[in-house]
Formats: sequence, structure tokens, C-alpha cells
Amino acid sequence: MDDDGDPSLGLEAAHSAPRILHAGGDATGAGVARALIRTVLDAQAAGRIQVMGHAQVTSLSQSEGRVAGVNFLHDGRALGVHGDAVLLATGGAGQLFAQTTNPAVATADGLALAWRAGAAVADLEFFQFHPTCMVLPADALEAAGNGNEPLLISEAVRGEGAILLDANGERFMPGYHADAELARATSLPAASPCTSRPLEIPTGTSSLMR
Ligand SMILES: Cc1cc2nc3c(=O)[nH]c(=O)nc-3n(C[C@H](O)[C@H](O)[C@H](O)COP(=O)(O)OP(=O)(O)OC[C@H]3O[C@@H](n4cnc5c(N)ncnc54)[C@H](O)[C@@H]3O)c2cc1C
Repeated sequence: MDDDGDPSLGLEAAHSAPRILHAGGDATGAGVARALIRTVLDAQAAGRIQVMGHAQVTSLSQSEGRVAGVNFLHDGRALGVHGDAVLLATGGAGQLFAQTTNPAVATADGLALAWRAGAAVADLEFFQFHPTCMVLPADALEAAGNGNEPLLISEAVRGEGAILLDANGERFMPGYHADAELARATSLPAASPCTSRPLEIPTGTSSLMR
């Protein structure tokens, strides 16, 4: 909530109005996850659903030409469960790329499971490539001790006024699009000025980083 008790809405790059909901400052994801987890655990406590954690689905089982359940690994055991309907919600596919800010589990399992079961897949070429991602040099990574995971710098930072600088410290986006850093899309030349230098971030925006 903001100071007036209204939902706290932020502007993201390319949006024409602030409509990004924030919770707990820069802890929006934790807020969303907490609410979802609580709801699922409540449903389990009420006996409406059964949750099986740390299970890895390996294939879809089929019967009479239809998907009839899933096969999965749990505690090293191969198990299966029947389902009248199977909904695949296995997240993204960013780990197929050399550099990604996606979590380690984003390995396109749902797509592969569906495709192996005979589903038609479409629009696989549509991926969001994020223009602002921080990859620390090897020595800084070691000092920070936080592995080799690139950190996504939220478009909300640009929405709040951050600008992109090239390797010479010069702003370049106004030369490509009238909306500059807030452009919905633009095409940069092959030798693009994108750089690993940090964004110039105005004071007061750090709470929007994710
Ligand atoms: C760095 C980053 C920042 C983001 N910031 C925002 C933001 O600010 N606001 C916003 O709205 N969105 C944001 N997003 C996008 C948002 O996180 C995703 O769109 C959302 O989490 C996708 O939810 P999902 O349930 O589809 O997949 P996920 O949340 O990825 O869940 C998929 C689940 O499936 C499980 N799974 C995968 N394979 C298998 C398998 N074979 N068997 C069993 N389980 C499996 C995984 O372990 C995981 O738990 C961000 C994403 C990234 C990467």
C-alpha cells in the first residue's frame, strides 16, 4: 500500500500508466509466493488437494490416445499418478540459453513433455530478451560469493527514470526511438552499444530492483 492506503503501483518501461503492483518494497515476489503457498497448504489441510513436493515429472502417461496422468521421480523412486486432466505449469525455458536470469528449474520441461506426448507446439521463437542484466566480472563474482547467476535489473528501474549508457558512458537510446529507454521495442544494429556497464539509477528507485 502507498501512503494513502491505495495499492502501490509502479511504472514499468513501455507501460503508459503505473500498473505494476508492489508488495513490501522490493519483496513483491515473496509476497505473491507467500499468498499462493498459504492457499495451497490451506487446501491441502482441508483435504481438497494432495501436494507432493520435490517430485520431477519425467513423462506423460497415455491411454487410448489420451493423456491419462504423469510419471515422476520422487525420492529416487519411479512413480505414477492418474489424472482425468493434466495441466502442465513447469515455467519457462530460459536455461536453454547460455545467459539467463531465469531460475535453474526453467528447463522447458513442460514443452518437452507435451511435445513427446504428441502435442503440437507453436510460437517457440517468441522469447523475452531483457535488455538490462548485470553479469559481474569473474573476480567481482568471486568476491561477492554469489555463484555465476546474472541478475535481472528490472524494467521498473527504467520506468522510474534510469537510463542506458554505452561503453563510453554515453546515452544512446534516444537515437533509436523517441521513447528512449521506455520504448516498447526497437532494433539495434549488430554492433550494438549495449554494454555490461551499470545503469545510471536515480536515487529513490532501489526499492524497485528485483
Ligand atoms: C529474474 C526474473 C524477474 C521477474 N520479475 C517479475 C516481476 O517483477 N513481475 C512479474 O509479474 N513477473 C516477473 N517475472 C516473471 C515471473 O517470475 C514468471 O512469469 C512466473 O514465475 C512464471 O510462473 P510459472 O508458474 O509459469 O512458472 P514457475 O514459477 O517457474 O514455476 C514452475 C514450477 O514448475 C516446476 N517444474 C519444472 N519442471 C518440472 C518437472 N519436470 N516436474 C515437476 N516440476 C517441474 C519448477 O520447479 C517450478 O517450481 C520474473 C522472472 C524472472 C526470471
